[in-house]
Amino acid sequence: MSGHPPPKHDAARPRTSGPGPSRPVPAHARIVIVGGGLAGVELAAALAGHGAQDVLLLEAGPGQDLAHIHMTHPQKTATEIVFAPERDPHFHRPWRSQTPPHYTGISGLRRRLGGRSLYWHGVILPLEDWALHPPGWPAEVVADLTTGVAGKPSWYDRVTADLTAWSGGTLWDPAQPARTALGGHEFRPLPRACRRLPGDRWEAYTALDAWRGPAGRPVPPPGVQVHCDSEVLAVDVHDGRARGVLARTAYGTLTTIAADTVVLCAGTVESTRLAVHALTEAGALPQPRLGGLADHIVQGFVARLPADRLPAPGSYHLPTDPALRSYLRMDIHDDGPGRALLDVRVTGEQLPNDHSAVECRPSGELPWQARIHTELLPEDRQMISGQRDLLRDFWAVAAAELGVPATPLEFTDFGDADRDNTRVLPDRTRRQSAGRPETWTSLLGTEDHEGGSLPLGRLLDARHAFTALPGLYAAGPAVFPRLGAANPSLTAIALSRRLAALLAEA
Ligand SMILES: Cc1cc2nc3c(=O)[nH]c(=O)nc-3n(C[C@H](O)[C@H](O)[C@H](O)COP(=O)(O)OP(=O)(O)OC[C@H]3O[C@@H](n4cnc5c(N)ncnc54)[C@H](O)[C@@H]3O)c2cc1C
Repeated sequence: MSGHPPPKHDAARPRTSGPGPSRPVPAHARIVIVGGGLAGVELAAALAGHGAQDVLLLEAGPGQDLAHIHMTHPQKTATEIVFAPERDPHFHRPWRSQTPPHYTGISGLRRRLGGRSLYWHGVILPLEDWALHPPGWPAEVVADLTTGVAGKPSWYDRVTADLTAWSGGTLWDPAQPARTALGGHEFRPLPRACRRLPGDRWEAYTALDAWRGPAGRPVPPPGVQVHCDSEVLAVDVHDGRARGVLARTAYGTLTTIAADTVVLCAGTVESTRLAVHALTEAGALPQPRLGGLADHIVQGFVARLPADRLPAPGSYHLPTDPALRSYLRMDIHDDGPGRALLDVRVTGEQLPNDHSAVECRPSGELPWQARIHTELLPEDRQMISGQRDLLRDFWAVAAAELGVPATPLEFTDFGDADRDNTRVLPDRTRRQSAGRPETWTSLLGTEDHEGGSLPLGRLLDARHAFTALPGLYAAGPAVFPRLGAANPSLTAIALSRRLAALLAEA
């Protein structure tokens, strides 16, 4: 790593946060996992399940509090922590957007052990066949996810079964009917891997659940060491191979940790930044940038309506429309005596393109700064207008069924920061006139579904290894060659478990 300050190993110094007694950061591990969020903790837990030894997970944020935000906070406060991130001490955006307002605002990491697995809503949907279909995704990954190989059930089936058991045997509230009609459509309950807790509290699945020790501190399984407050600044690249990582530990000391295998699980943008740096050091990139970054394109409307005219509170969805690469979701929430909030959104796939990229400017300073540039393809713009037509048609029919005026839905230009998804904040919906729908459109990078910049079958092989840099791997939505319309986490969890099996086998 030319130009890096000489690393000092801090073996003599204790750590301040994380599990167990104070221990120094080791100088070597067989597998180093960079980032302890949804993908990284799942990978570490699955490796331990295979009896792997000498796994080190490095997490940039603290590890004292392992509770999901909806476990700790009432609904309103938790919603504000997400949509008004200045209220979240863990919110951190380590990149700069060159195409604001996209990838600004609520776009960022939740830097703590557990990452966004302590914020997510638990919606688990498999990626659609049309998105997975080769050449989009490598055929062997698709087979493992969807049909299973060598007589084993598919990864989708195994993960769905585990998450259903974790959720208490069902993925939706038993009070929700199996089918619900509104707006000329028949909806199904939306599958969510969640546990209801007393009051309005709930939590979504996280592999960290099994690590919760006394006083909420993490107790990882045998074979796994976790070091929190330890930010990986760069991958250590020598002689055309990833040899470990350079990290800043809890004391601010720079340490080089040697590893046979390094797995990037730092969230899409941060993993891509680390990959751009490492591949540039290895001479494997013509320019310090990687394209293909994509997010879901999401827009919707909220309306305050009489509760007795609406279906029972809950979350519902329609199957994805392949022509629109999008699916419609409907949530009905209590909104005070006799009133309910109808929250309807359509989620669609942004296609990968080379102009949507994570870029770095090489420098002697660590870490290299990431900049994001994003663009829509003509097909994406067509989808945006198709989504708006779908929402307008749905609302026109629903309003007639509900006996309320069908005030037409009006949208502003895509990328209007005044009409983004923060419209669903309770303080805003409460001020909304009854019966009058308010539309919104998410800015790119604010759905927390960003992925696609380290694609399997192209930059990575089907075993998650970087083809141009032996020893380096990646997991999380970053590795999806296409996003599809489905929420990413079922696939991210399945891929982390599949990768653990591959690494354990090796
Ligand atoms: C409010 C909310 C609701 C959501 N709901 C859903 C849903 O219902 N269904 C669904 O499928 N998805 C949902 N998501 C998206 C889902 O949470 C993310 O797709 C997923 O967490 C991404 O996993 P990841 O491991 O790649 O990133 P993260 O979970 O963000 O984890 C990355 C981790 O890496 C750490 N890190 C970053 N940089 C470094 C570094 N340099 N060194 C060391 N550590 C580092 C971070 O601190 C973080 O802990 C939701 C997200 C949010 C915020």
